[in-house]
Amino acid sequence: EQVLLQVEDLQVSFDTYAGEVKAVRGVSFEVHEGETLAIVGESGSGKSVTAQAVMRLTPDDQIQYKNGHIRFEDTEVLKVSQKEMEKIRGAKIGMILQDPLTSLNPTMLVGKQIAEGLIKHQHLDKAEAIKRSVEMLKMVGIPNAEQRACQYPHEFSGGMRQRVSIAIALACNPKLLIADEPTTALDVTIQAQILELMKDLQKRLGTSIILITHDLGIVADMAENIVIMYAGRLVEKGSCKDVFYRPGHPYTWGLLESVPKIDQASKEELDSIPGTPPDLHSDIKGCPFKSRCKYAMKICYEQAPEAFELGEKHTASCWLYHENAPEVKNPITNRE
Ligand code: SF4
Ligand code: MG
Repeated sequence: EQVLLQVEDLQVSFDTYAGEVKAVRGVSFEVHEGETLAIVGESGSGKSVTAQAVMRLTPDDQIQYKNGHIRFEDTEVLKVSQKEMEKIRGAKIGMILQDPLTSLNPTMLVGKQIAEGLIKHQHLDKAEAIKRSVEMLKMVGIPNAEQRACQYPHEFSGGMRQRVSIAIALACNPKLLIADEPTTALDVTIQAQILELMKDLQKRLGTSIILITHDLGIVADMAENIVIMYAGRLVEKGSCKDVFYRPGHPYTWGLLESVPKIDQASKEELDSIPGTPPDLHSDIKGCPFKSRCKYAMKICYEQAPEAFELGEKHTASCWLYHENAPEVKNPITNRE
């Protein structure tokens, strides 16, 4: 398939009152047309910052792109003006967030909010745009769409609100949908319905999806490929099949060992891996996972691991795959 989005050695920093945070530290991946790529990590892993960079969502005076490329179709996302980006955001790339209340306008009728993008990007007149927004509400499974279009966001339940934000995100038929923890705020039944809806719409529209989540249970169901981030770095990537059945990175091992726990409690920490991620204000010497890794060797403290190839398009950034490293038994492939 065709590559739609290519991210290459992305490095993103921003200033806080406590100093510069190096949130993303050299991340590369690609998204093909029609594919779902999951980006997985704990809070602070840089997964949301990476997705926001793809849309240049953070105002330019609050963020620095230190290095890297983001190529979306023919656009060098990090080089064009914000004005150029406005033509892409909402038109070619849509986004849904964890809490639709923060993305929806509380004082504007829902139908009007969907129509806005259609008027701006597709130059529909008002009547056409409203008609199309009702169709969108129907498409995302909202009953009584005509009446619902004339209501405000607070008149919708959490799940219905997320359907509305999906309708807004997909109104202009974007090539790419970025979904940042789209179901984390919803209860389990509603969560399943929203994911089902996303899958169904993807099949019908051919949209590529970047799904950002900390929940590996969702990934298995939704994505073809997966990127695992830790402390701003990409630690493992590959097809879901490879990463779930033949994971290579000790952090991934920890994640997979804690899966039942993640399912029960929907929280963003993985407390089954003892320790905490490193401080993102400073440079990290060696492997970012070393203080939590029971396989850490001397070199792990001295030099950042390179990405070792474990299979076709499957890599892990871990010194265990160096030819001189001692043999370690993979706890996932060897478990009963
Ligand atoms: Fe553990 Fe070393 Fe691999 Fe990092 S590079 S995950 S510290 S073994
Ligand atoms: Mg986040």
